Amino acid sequence: MFTPVYATSEVAIFPFFFAATMTTSKYPMIPVDDALRIVLSKTTQPIGVESIDMEYGVETFLDRIIAEDIVAEDPLPPFRASIMDGYAVIASDGVGTYDMVSSITAGIDVPNTVENNRYDIKPGQVSYITTGAPVPPSADAVIRIEDTEYVDGHPNKVKINVPVKSGKWIRPIGSDVQRGQVVVEKNTTLSPALIGLLATVGATKVKAYKKPNVCIISTGDELLEPWERKLTNGKIRDSNRFMLLAAAKKSGANILNLGIVRDKAVDLKKTLQNAIAKSDVVISSGGVSMGSLDLVKDLLEELGTVHFGRMCMKPGKPTTFATICKDDNNLPNGKCEKLFFGLPGNPVSSLVAYHLLVDPAIKALSGVPINKCHHARINARIAMPLKLDPVRPEYHRSVLTWRETVGTSGEFIADSTGIQRSSRLLSMRESSALLCLPKGNTTLNPGEIVPALLIGSNPIPPPTHVTPHLDASLTSKVETRTNNKNVKISTQNIDTNDEKPDADDDIPVCACCGVKKTNIIIDDTPPPRYGGIEIDNSSNVRIGVITVSDRASNGVYPDQGGPEILRCINDNVKSLWESEYRIIPDEQRIIESTICDLSDRVRCNIIITTGGTGPAERDLTPDATMNVCGRLFPGFGERMRQISLQYIPSAILSRQVAGTRGKTFIINLPGSPHSVRQILPSIFDAIIHISYIINNKIKIIRKETSIGNNSDNNMNNNNNNDDHVFEHLFVIDQVNVDWIERQKSGNGRKFTEHEIIDNLFQLLFADIKSDATVQDIIFTVPRGKGRKKKKTRILLKLSNYNYQWILKMKAKYDVPNVDKIMRIILDYVLENEE
Ligand code: AMP
Ligand code: MG
Repeated sequence: MFTPVYATSEVAIFPFFFAATMTTSKYPMIPVDDALRIVLSKTTQPIGVESIDMEYGVETFLDRIIAEDIVAEDPLPPFRASIMDGYAVIASDGVGTYDMVSSITAGIDVPNTVENNRYDIKPGQVSYITTGAPVPPSADAVIRIEDTEYVDGHPNKVKINVPVKSGKWIRPIGSDVQRGQVVVEKNTTLSPALIGLLATVGATKVKAYKKPNVCIISTGDELLEPWERKLTNGKIRDSNRFMLLAAAKKSGANILNLGIVRDKAVDLKKTLQNAIAKSDVVISSGGVSMGSLDLVKDLLEELGTVHFGRMCMKPGKPTTFATICKDDNNLPNGKCEKLFFGLPGNPVSSLVAYHLLVDPAIKALSGVPINKCHHARINARIAMPLKLDPVRPEYHRSVLTWRETVGTSGEFIADSTGIQRSSRLLSMRESSALLCLPKGNTTLNPGEIVPALLIGSNPIPPPTHVTPHLDASLTSKVETRTNNKNVKISTQNIDTNDEKPDADDDIPVCACCGVKKTNIIIDDTPPPRYGGIEIDNSSNVRIGVITVSDRASNGVYPDQGGPEILRCINDNVKSLWESEYRIIPDEQRIIESTICDLSDRVRCNIIITTGGTGPAERDLTPDATMNVCGRLFPGFGERMRQISLQYIPSAILSRQVAGTRGKTFIINLPGSPHSVRQILPSIFDAIIHISYIINNKIKIIRKETSIGNNSDNNMNNNNNNDDHVFEHLFVIDQVNVDWIERQKSGNGRKFTEHEIIDNLFQLLFADIKSDATVQDIIFTVPRGKGRKKKKTRILLKLSNYNYQWILKMKAKYDVPNVDKIMRIILDYVLENEE
């Protein structure tokens, strides 16, 4: 093993050969998961157990981890208690006027027996009773005060106006907590509710796990105390110690501040030994990397066992973990193992490594079950491009927000905290999550989903745009669905003592607005992966995509128009872009408010809607768009109809419009994904131009593509470059086979089977150039006449079955005229697509 030569004075007199020879670390970079496994294998036993007493104040209980099951010795309520202010009655008496013979308020000791009980009642009598008071033994129900009337001139009489069932408004003994029931389980963390439960069952002296003692040390000659006013040259204030002390406190430790220690082997060794003697866990920061004065690792080798000295992560690579064996007469084997975390000096690295390794370890030592020690992990959609590190997985600091949108179940959106340099603690300032990015050579596009660890230092900020939880459109959905007898409702938590609800009332009701709730079907179809591929300029283009469809928004079918728009943008736009994608019902108000939100708050440069442009009553997208636009651009509508008319005559009925709202350009497309594909590439240049004119900060760069340029030259340009747009996806399945059969039988255009099959084969076998294994075939078909003639590229997908079928048929026939048949197939597809 290498033995370092330590400097003996403040000025290092280091031999050069040291720095020169130690250019690689002897510690392998181990994966974070392995590191955590090693750490947790050393924390299988909590530190110990002690007794805590509620009489010393609630702080002694809050967040402590309880070391025993707590059982209720008494039932709750311990007597039959009234749920309401009203009158204790005998239910069978029914409505009528009764004598009030006693008054029972909460706290009065009402005997259980009938004999000589001045609070008890007989048939024809009632007793005034308040909430929480004991019900007299002969009463079997309580009437709410609002269901009664006073009798004028008879203060001791009351008129009961409604009948009541036996048991109504009475909490039976033990109905909240049964005698013998475990109310707080071992290993749970005492929350306010659990502390309430302990109090209610009188468990005020309980066993809790001891908190581990954690010593925190900063190492470094450059460090000054944070309260040092003047920074002399070369010095910085020590941020790590107070940060880590606070973190360890939050993790549940008793903390001890052991100050700053200089990069001097003798001092460092003394401080480390002192720390180890005083604590269960030692955390140091600094001195674990490759510099000449990074002495911690070697000292740990001397004092104990170093389990790892590098982790494959960014930031935090030099993180070191060691254990040191000590005598402990309190333990059965007379030994204990102290944990030592040598965290890196850079503040961000040390805090990230703390979250990943030290926090779970402190929790485990405090009695939290191992499977609950880890940070909660969720999925988040990134709002910006993230370049991956080619060598190490990265924990990218991010701020999460919850995005709620009409018609979707909502999702977490992750924003970066900016420059991720490991010294820049500002990147942790508002960070609520660490995004777990794999290593790789690519850039993740905005919109991709990544796992995120909730680090809990910062709460997730509240949503900036919240849909009212019972928005009018949802309410109407709820109401339609309540008619559906198949809806399953959970009645689990409904008080069984309450009157049985009427059949129609069988649905939980929202506590604040009284609207019935049920399992609303919501569309959580994830948007496709998409995004710009290259950063051409610094400003991102923001594109809002809105699918307007009743059926897509309530989950009858998955949305296709929205994903198609996103795909088309990806195929056509080279600039970096990001998107907001919403699926909403055909409600004019919602369409308007969604466009306004994407324009005014999200500040989209372009909003593209799909759906709701036709002549039907609920096709309202153009109407909504016109209402919220400042200026309209009729040319777009005309051009779009012109394009669609090439394929389908009924396109004349399409009402799509385009306009601007502030700096946002808004355009409607029809709902069919085919129309999106036909129209969008052809109008992209105009969209780009208008976006540039209304908002000169953004410059949208178009991808190079020959498709959509409508140039006649394309006819001969048989370029199979994958960058090209596939305008049509034609799958030869049974439906198409049937169609071919129909063509044969004279439905519409008449072809002989011979012609049809021959044409198909000609095409297939010419284009796949005898490669019999290829089943996805790309070919081009000219469409239109004269100057309008253009090329359409088709991706033909063949299942193995169909491929075999074609091979079989080929053996039977022999034929010409390929383009014609494909045009027929294409026309068929296009004519039927709407
Ligand atoms: P080291 O890990 O000791 O090589 O330190 C790496 C970097 O972190 C250096 O720029 C140190 O100045 C800085 N650093 C080390 N310890 C602290 C600390 N306690 N507070 C702030 N910065 C620190
Ligand atoms: Mg240092």
